[in-house]
Amino acid sequence: MIIELDPLMTWVIVIGALVVLVAAFLIGRRYGVRRTLNTMRRYAHPANLSDEVIDDAARYRAALIVNPTKTDVRNLAATAEAICRFEGWNPPLVLETTPEDSGEGVTVRALDEGVDVVIAAGGDGTIRAVASALAGTSTPMGIVPLGTGNLLARNIDLVLDKTEWALRIALWGRNREIDVGMAKTAPDGDTHIFTVMTGLGFDAAVMADTSDDLKARLGWLAYVEAGSRKLTGKPSHVKVTFDDEYRISARVRSVLGGNCGKLQGGIQLLPQAVIDDGMLDVLIVSPKNLGQWVGVLASIAGRRASRGLHTNIRKCRKVVIEAGDDVDIQLDGDPLGQSSYLEMEVDPSALTVRVPTVEQRKQIRAEAWPV
Ligand SMILES: [Mg+2]
Repeated sequence: MIIELDPLMTWVIVIGALVVLVAAFLIGRRYGVRRTLNTMRRYAHPANLSDEVIDDAARYRAALIVNPTKTDVRNLAATAEAICRFEGWNPPLVLETTPEDSGEGVTVRALDEGVDVVIAAGGDGTIRAVASALAGTSTPMGIVPLGTGNLLARNIDLVLDKTEWALRIALWGRNREIDVGMAKTAPDGDTHIFTVMTGLGFDAAVMADTSDDLKARLGWLAYVEAGSRKLTGKPSHVKVTFDDEYRISARVRSVLGGNCGKLQGGIQLLPQAVIDDGMLDVLIVSPKNLGQWVGVLASIAGRRASRGLHTNIRKCRKVVIEAGDDVDIQLDGDPLGQSSYLEMEVDPSALTVRVPTVEQRKQIRAEAWPV
């Protein structure tokens, strides 16, 4: 039997089909195809309606690596769990850092579990440790900034004081590939990853001399306090080799290699440093007395891009610093002991980080400035 459709019926069917297609497309775009299909599957099989039995394997899962000295772990884990549940993710795998494992080991464990994103909750030290394990993989890193400097978070324009937003950005933010720095303190030594800056001399001596207690009480002013005590130290004689060829020899207070250059309070220590240009910006600071330090500060405040008063900045891919004696070294603010050798190199686009999408930025702004 042939079903005869009158022309009106045919149009109704064609338009109906189009409406369904457009609706499916819009829903897919708005909520994500994977999540929408999962939700539909739940409603198609009422037995699955209780949260536990749904296809857990199909849902995303995050790992949350927390430095327990910076926050209340149970509180943060509860917030993360609530947000994950709300966003249709599996409960997060919560792991704590310890004095022995500042984050690298637990991140490797999280990668073995096959998580979709690793969220580092801590200061730049924790972030550096997590990044060490994630660099070179395609698993993105989310950041909940809980430190004194939060320099990486500042340099990629994350929200600093809204934990819930930081978590949402970690789950649904945009993936951005950034460079990481690689440092060695001996020609055949271990490679240490850094995301912000590594330095030798004055800055490292300050980091080594700033007490955690004072950092907790004064924040970044603790560095100023330690810095003022170190201003009149003795300079070191160093040979600096850029990209295996250009060499300079100087008496300096500090040599700093930066993957990016923004510090607290909007200070641009390295005004031309870009976090994904495949280059390191190397700053040499060489004041001989307190008066010349004033010149250094003026050059930094004036955002001198290359040559300032007793400062010099140069872009390169690799730099080797050989000092006449052992000098303090710091990586992203963590003291790394003393050495007379420091080699820094950039590994381009080695790390994926989650940054806010345009839509998320709009929402954050709307919350901050209610109409
Ligand atoms: Mg760079």
